Amino acid sequence: MTVALVTGATGQDGSYLVERLLAEGAEVHGVVRPGDDFGAVGWTPHAVDLGDRPGLHALVARLAPDELYNLGGISSVARSWAEPEATAELSGLAPLALLDAALATQDRTGRAVRVVQASSAEIFGHPDRAPQDETTPVAPRNPYGAAKAFAHHLAGVYRERGLHVASCVLFNHESPRRPEQFVTRKITRGAARIALGLDDTLVLGNLAARRDWGWAPDYVDAMVRAARHDAPGDWVVATGQAHSVEDFVRAAFERAGVPDWRPHVEVDPAFLRPGDAPLLVGDPGRAERELGWRRTHDFAALVGAMVDHDLALARA
Ligand code: GDP
Repeated sequence: MTVALVTGATGQDGSYLVERLLAEGAEVHGVVRPGDDFGAVGWTPHAVDLGDRPGLHALVARLAPDELYNLGGISSVARSWAEPEATAELSGLAPLALLDAALATQDRTGRAVRVVQASSAEIFGHPDRAPQDETTPVAPRNPYGAAKAFAHHLAGVYRERGLHVASCVLFNHESPRRPEQFVTRKITRGAARIALGLDDTLVLGNLAARRDWGWAPDYVDAMVRAARHDAPGDWVVATGQAHSVEDFVRAAFERAGVPDWRPHVEVDPAFLRPGDAPLLVGDPGRAERELGWRRTHDFAALVGAMVDHDLALARA
């Protein structure tokens, strides 16, 4: 039986991944934040802070997992500006501790520990080319991207030392489980509430930013494929389609049944960010060719699923 360890098990991606691994019959262990209300069903939670590197080492050594998925850390660019040191610790040093523990465990047991690092398009900063792929220079522009870049480079370093480490460079990926500090969920919740007369306005930041938004369960599928691929490597996981925040707003309001979004949306400079990337769009060609990965949801399907979920929540 496959033994899998997942950090960030209670987050958007972690929850989809845990469900997927359980459905396959794996023995699943999750790292959860001490004190979190995790409601684990069918898997084993381990309350270890990602800042507790000896605790992470001990857990990996004890479980000796076949697969280790590192999805934990500071998950948003916005928060990384407020807490840059915590970002470095949880999204940079924690991955290092996990890689080091995985290699030590593999050396001790003689059994491979396959590691997947959830990397991010933010490692590319303000890229000089579009779409971005595995050869795009790593040049982050915010603390989140810098911490993810450090972990991405270390994945390569530990791969050289004989560990099966995949770094999946995930572009934005969304779902009804996305928390509201992300723009997509903020928009779909706002559009649903405005459509039902519960709210009047939605206040946003940069409407011109363009992102490549995909369906989170598809990105989890890519990570599982990466763990099980013969050779470890770096894979960009993206849809290849860019849309602006304004496009997302328009599509969400239309889906909710509000034909004109303009009277309902205000822009507040408080939501603008330093160093916001103008255009992140990925080329998933390598993942498609080598991992056999395909996305199941395009932009319209993603917006539709999120708005429908938020309409149902707002009606409840
Ligand atoms: P990120 O790409 O991981 O930072 O995901 P977000 O969903 O937080 O942000 C995506 C884009 O939406 C960025 O370019 C933000 O500047 C832009 N954006 C515009 N208005 C907002 C807002 O009100 N909240 C957030 N979080 N992002 C916004």
